[in-house]
Amino acid sequence: MVIKPKVRGFICTNAHPVGCAASVNEQIEYVKSLGDLGEGPKNVLILGCSTGYGLASRIVSTFGYGAKTLGVCFEKPPTERKTGTAGWYNTAAFHQFAGQAGIYAHTLNGDAFSNELKQQVIEQLKANMGKVDLVIYSLASPRRTDPETGEVYKSTLKPVGQDYKTKTYDTDKDLIHEVELEAANEQEIADTIKVMGGEDWELWLAALADADLLADNCKTTAYTYIGKELTWPIYGQATIGKAKEDLDRAASAITNSLKDKNVKAYVSSLKALVTQASSAIPVMPLYISLIYKVMKQEGTHEGCIEQIAGLFSEKLLQDDPQTDDMNRLRMDGKETNDATQAKIKQLWDQVTQENFHELSDYAGYHHEFLKLFGFDIDGVDYEQDLDPLVEW
Ligand code: NAD
Repeated sequence: MVIKPKVRGFICTNAHPVGCAASVNEQIEYVKSLGDLGEGPKNVLILGCSTGYGLASRIVSTFGYGAKTLGVCFEKPPTERKTGTAGWYNTAAFHQFAGQAGIYAHTLNGDAFSNELKQQVIEQLKANMGKVDLVIYSLASPRRTDPETGEVYKSTLKPVGQDYKTKTYDTDKDLIHEVELEAANEQEIADTIKVMGGEDWELWLAALADADLLADNCKTTAYTYIGKELTWPIYGQATIGKAKEDLDRAASAITNSLKDKNVKAYVSSLKALVTQASSAIPVMPLYISLIYKVMKQEGTHEGCIEQIAGLFSEKLLQDDPQTDDMNRLRMDGKETNDATQAKIKQLWDQVTQENFHELSDYAGYHHEFLKLFGFDIDGVDYEQDLDPLVEW
């Protein structure tokens, strides 16, 4: 099969196995180039391990600290006629590279919100890894089935309190236009908290504690995006932001309930980046295209792997890390500082259909978007006839 990108709106419906492997390898090489990262975790559980920030967390754990990893993801395997998802191919490539390096890795593909998957993780840890000293919670999902009631909750991406009119960029039509986003109702807010809030993170830590699989001094983190004024109406102060606030509640609940083991739970705030999750959020493609422009000019542009390598070594793995007033670990300062935000705001106010490609780094955004699915990567032969069936 010759595999070319099939982009539909904000998603690409296929993926390139060789390109995904190249992108995973690039992240591994970056981590190796950092040299000795010092003492780190030995046994890491990564929930949402196959793409974006979770994959980067797995790569840093493995190739930065030599840790064994158990990963959980929800990806579609390939068939003879259809490629697998990017996360499937990323995971296959990760296993190949970890195997070559002689570092243990195992991945379970299934619904992390379910009791069954939690049980499988517990059995897997008992059989092959033992207690974990780091748990990364990096799930991004539009829906969650409550494991007790079977009810399916869907998240929404809507403002809270009032409707919101703003600029956005339609990546399909190459069009800057105004959108009016309708305010969420109470039910939609509650449902989004149910999907993307802290409840499932707490359930995971409780299940691991009950099974005596948390090492003393274990750390755990869930990822958030806080942003600034430009994104607050659709993110920070919107439905997803309400869910993220619930992570702050969950972090202190986890730390309090597992005091006897000195478990520390943190919410880590990361910068905005192109991932499968962020490209689905209205306004984000425009905002990210502008921050890429500004941050590349400032020399502060970073991808998932740079953010996570920095998070681990500068904050998360420190004994007493510096936190903000909500006890969060902040890696978003290079994006959210006032001077950078002022430059982005200036571009935001100026941007029109005519000058969009000149003022923004949409070319960079689009390249990163295609790269998520293994496309547009130097050195990969996209004319090659490939077998899409790749296993791990
Ligand atoms: P992503 O879409 O790249 O990754 C999501 C991961 O979750 C994948 O591994 C996927 O397989 C897994 N997953 C989804 N549903 C699952 C399920 N039911 N069971 C098991 N696995 C499941 O997303 P991302 O952008 O890396 O986001 C990860 C976290 O980082 C999210 O909490 C997000 O809010 C946060 N974050 C993202 C950004 C950004 O700009 N992308 C910025 C800051 C924080």
